[in-house]
Amino acid sequence: WVRIIDLHKSFGAHEVLRGISLDVEPGQVVCIIGASGSGKSTLLRCVNRLEDPTSGQVVVDGVDLTDPDCELDEARAHMGMVFQQFNLFPHRTALGNVTLAPRKVLGRSAAEADEVGRRCLADVGLAERADAYPSQLSGGQQQRVAIARALAMDPDIMLFDEPTSALDPELVGDVLEVMRDLARRGMTMLVVTHEMAFAREVADRVVFMDEGVVCEEGPPAQVLSEPREPRTREFLARVL
Ligand code: ATP
Ligand code: MG
Repeated sequence: WVRIIDLHKSFGAHEVLRGISLDVEPGQVVCIIGASGSGKSTLLRCVNRLEDPTSGQVVVDGVDLTDPDCELDEARAHMGMVFQQFNLFPHRTALGNVTLAPRKVLGRSAAEADEVGRRCLADVGLAERADAYPSQLSGGQQQRVAIARALAMDPDIMLFDEPTSALDPELVGDVLEVMRDLARRGMTMLVVTHEMAFAREVADRVVFMDEGVVCEEGPPAQVLSEPREPRTREFLARVL
């Protein structure tokens, strides 16, 4: 589904990604962990081409996103992205946020978009809050609207970049529960997270990034409990 091949990304003289190769198979959940500045966000942003990689390939569903002829908007429509900051439109209701892209990008009618949007809000436990504005919702609820907004595009894969790190601790659980539910239903997910318990429980594979390379990857029980690389051990000793 997603195949990342020898991806490099430099900002000026600073090489942030130094040859990343990584596969995410359909239905798999891959969690990326690593220190601040190791390149995790840059990697996700290269996957959906918010950043242009310097070299290497990102192939999603057989489509090479790094090919200059690729229909980027079409390819992007199959990827949902959820950021640390929810980036909801403040002047639109929850439902208004969720239905916007299906109407503008997929050309859905208002009635169709509303029906799908209400279903997606129900999936994240917010059926009752469809008419609320972002300012009337908690951070955790806003993040769940952001997840519903991504789901409304019927994505093949969801990319999450630290979706819970801007939340008050008591709101983290609800968002993780929604993500757990998505994983259970077979969604393909690439998740940057500091939530080690979530990674341990939900991930099929955990990838430890260090200074722009994949230092170690494997099943969560191995990477998180019996890391082979000294750098993984040092990182885990700091965060666990
Ligand atoms: P964090 O855990 O803090 O989110 P991260 O692993 O996501 O860190 P990135 O945000 O990918 O790290 O950043 C990796 C490096 O790339 C950092 O040194 C950062 O300063 C640099 N960087 C990221 N984006 C840019 C940019 N647009 N221009 C210049 N440098 C950048
Ligand atoms: Mg980041």
